[in-house]
Amino acid sequence: ELYGIFGKENYVAIHLILEIFIIISCMAIAIQVWFISKFSFINKDIYIGALFLFLALIEIVHTISYKGMPYFITESSPYEATWFYILERLFLSIGLLAVMVWKVKKHSGASRWISYSVALVLAIICVFIVYSPKQLLPPLVIEGVGTTFLKNTLQYTALSIQVLLILYLVRHYKIAPRRSLLFVVASIYLIVSDILFTFYKDVYDIYNFLGHIFQLFAFVVLFRAIYYSAVEYPYKRMSLVNQELEQSKKEMYNMAYFDEITNLPNERFIYEKIKEKIEYHQEFTLLIFEFERLATIKSSLGTFYSEEMLRLAAERLHQSISSNYVVGKLREDQFIIIVNGQKELNEIEAVCEQIQQLFETPFQIQHFSLHSNVNIGIANYPGDAKDENNLIKYAQFAMYEAGLTTEHIMFYHSKISDKRTERVVLENNLYQAIQNNELFLQYQPQIDVMTGEIIALEALVRWNHPTRGLIPPAEFIPIAEQSGLIIPFGNWVLETACRETKELQEKLNKPVKVAVNLSIGQLFQANFVSNVLDILEKTDFHPQCLELEITETMTMKTNQVKPILHQLKECGISVAIDDFGTGFSSLSYLKDLPIDSLKIDRGFVGKIKNGCTEPLVDMILSVAKHLQLKVIAEGIETMNQLHYLKSNQCDFIQGFLICKPINMDVLLKEFDQIQMKAIDMVALLKLEQ
Ligand code: C2E
Ligand code: CA
Ligand code: CA
Repeated sequence: ELYGIFGKENYVAIHLILEIFIIISCMAIAIQVWFISKFSFINKDIYIGALFLFLALIEIVHTISYKGMPYFITESSPYEATWFYILERLFLSIGLLAVMVWKVKKHSGASRWISYSVALVLAIICVFIVYSPKQLLPPLVIEGVGTTFLKNTLQYTALSIQVLLILYLVRHYKIAPRRSLLFVVASIYLIVSDILFTFYKDVYDIYNFLGHIFQLFAFVVLFRAIYYSAVEYPYKRMSLVNQELEQSKKEMYNMAYFDEITNLPNERFIYEKIKEKIEYHQEFTLLIFEFERLATIKSSLGTFYSEEMLRLAAERLHQSISSNYVVGKLREDQFIIIVNGQKELNEIEAVCEQIQQLFETPFQIQHFSLHSNVNIGIANYPGDAKDENNLIKYAQFAMYEAGLTTEHIMFYHSKISDKRTERVVLENNLYQAIQNNELFLQYQPQIDVMTGEIIALEALVRWNHPTRGLIPPAEFIPIAEQSGLIIPFGNWVLETACRETKELQEKLNKPVKVAVNLSIGQLFQANFVSNVLDILEKTDFHPQCLELEITETMTMKTNQVKPILHQLKECGISVAIDDFGTGFSSLSYLKDLPIDSLKIDRGFVGKIKNGCTEPLVDMILSVAKHLQLKVIAEGIETMNQLHYLKSNQCDFIQGFLICKPINMDVLLKEFDQIQMKAIDMVALLKLEQ
């Protein structure tokens, strides 16, 4: 008994205080859920709120009817107080279990009103039953003796349900670990209080007091659990979601405004920047530049190399270009720099030179050392254009033109635009060129340096434009390559070359070979080899009389070219590397690929001057000798060059010295004459020696 600490008469007050705390806990839960359920539409939450409203109401009547409380409606008695208690206890454990097992659903706005009303009505019914003047229910406690069998049975029923709840929570622990833990703790407190409430003999004894204490603990923990699941957890999740949202917003911004490969501001960013400047009428200059050989590197080595090159280029720019300039990347693998303010021509030129110097050292990517010119186009605001689209377009036009100059730098001027328009027109005309018979071939003989005999002809395509006249291949082949026209074009060239050379062979009764130039797009088209074989069959041309000229860049995709070249070789077709020495420095591919000859570029031959040695020519000749390849030199214009090549064991030559490229009908007529001339020239050299 508690008399030792405080008197019997004080117990009512102590009980009252404990009960008030319990009521506060229950009410707090009910009110909290009521407000939260406006935002969280989970049915379980609302049922819990309603349950605790009911519990709070019953707890109030339990408190006021407690033994020793002042007269209120009726005299207070253990009968009423215990019944209210046991009702509350049963509803608590049954309610909690039911809510836990209940399926989670979304509720409508009305259901919290309904649930709370049901709780209220239920509480009123309970009050009426218990308060009924005629005692409708059997007593649960007999004073001095203790609790009755019924009370204990009901108490243990509540306890058992509580245990069931614990088991349920433990099984479904993972769904909401922290909430489950709190519910389990509360349940344990309730079970302890249950046991204590079956032990007491008198409401004043220590068991009753401790029972209340544990009951209070349980409610406080329940409050904590419901606060956690209804407020804390959703709030934490929300702030996590917010954080993720923030993060993805950032990522989206980066994706929208930065280039993936180089991490530089992208086209959208640059456009917006330029627009902004134009809005405020701030002067600036745009520099757009690209690597001349990037497209070739991409098509021959693959995107890995081109992207890596762009990335390394961006790094170099980042390190060396003043932070006053905005550096960005446009979609077409072009870089753009915005130089603010009004600038003198020489200032801009200095920036251009700085950029070019930056890329003088080759990019080392795996075992390739890649080098390329940068072509820079410049347009200025407000001088060249007044809107961002035209400014960028004009700088790009200038950049394309820059590729044709030795400085590789070009300021925009209005003539450039006209040229570009011309190019587009040219591309359109090109589509009809084959059908309209505007293409034709010229042939340039190749002679054996030892005998002077014409052993082959190089076929060179010409375009007779209806209004512009003869257009050199250097101008329209790149357009054909870019537009994809090179495939029908190439087929036409090959077929015509075979047919016309066949005619020549029959007339002369001599197996003169023909050399046909190939573009990279042709070599890598599907069924290239069978396509060639079809043409040979169609024109009844001997494969051994056909030589295909490819360039060094085409050999860089060694794995891809190798099978194609082997197939060609098996058919008897020979392969020469054109413009040898102007492409990539790696020579390793030479011994891996089945190549027949190397063709020294006319640029190197042109450097052969009287009495001097030309180291590059010597080098090519010696490489060829070691690899047992034939060498043909093109662009021979002087006897000196012929002499030099002959004395250095070059096998064949081709050039204006012997004959310019000429039409087949002319060649047929003048063949003997040209042949005589060649033999004479070679003979003359022999005499000199
Ligand atoms: P290429 O294959 O290097 O052709 C040799 C070029 O040098 C030809 O120019 C020829 O006329 C020129 N040439 C020959 N001997 C001399 C000489 O002694 N001195 C000088 N200065 N030049 C000489 P062309 O016909 O203008 O062809 C230019 C380029 O166009 C060719 O260079 C080739 O890459 C391309 N090409 C020509 N025809 C075709 C074709 O049918 N298909 C493809 N894909 N490309 C072609
Ligand atoms: Ca050629
Ligand atoms: Ca060449």
